[in-house]
Amino acid sequence: MSEDLIYITPSDVKDFLYCPYIMYLKKVLGVDEPLTELIKEGREAYELQRQRSKRRKTLLGLKKIKPDNIWFSVKLYSKKYRIYGVADAIYKEGGKYSILEIKYGEYRGRLSKDHFYQAMSYAMMFEEEYYKPVYKITVYYLKDNIMVSRRITQYHKKHWLNIIKDIWNIVDGVYIPSPIDMGGKCRVCFYKKYCYK
Ligand code: SF4
Repeated sequence: MSEDLIYITPSDVKDFLYCPYIMYLKKVLGVDEPLTELIKEGREAYELQRQRSKRRKTLLGLKKIKPDNIWFSVKLYSKKYRIYGVADAIYKEGGKYSILEIKYGEYRGRLSKDHFYQAMSYAMMFEEEYYKPVYKITVYYLKDNIMVSRRITQYHKKHWLNIIKDIWNIVDGVYIPSPIDMGGKCRVCFYKKYCYK
């Protein structure tokens, strides 16, 4: 069994929330989306932000957040939920830890569920590894220069756990989700050629 099948990643959480059938295609049938230009551009933009942050006192140059500390590219993993990943950044402000997720794609007018729960994965891993509570999730949409934050509640944690349980049920072959025609979402989905509808 490959490493990929032993652990899941925060990107899997994002994909699952986009469409559960993607999880079946990726983790059971082994179909994976190749690196797109957008992903490559996003990685370059992230590296630039990381370099710049060494000279800055504010978070990504935005005046409203002046963290006491910020750590970039933080490797995290959870033995309990079998998930690993590298958080874009974790920052500490007023003694509280928060997760920073940097998105290169366009802002969709709100903090989307898939982006939020992807970042929640880092929060849950951080709490398990470091025994410190994570206060909020901040997502920064680079192209639009928009930063959105949301406090983490017990409800979010419970919901995240249900998502993880569902993903593992698919990966472990407990059930196969059905591809559902989701109109616009399906039209722009890389996996559409694998959905026999
Ligand atoms: S094409 Fe539609 S149903 Fe198929 S994986 Fe993508 S989003 Fe899901």
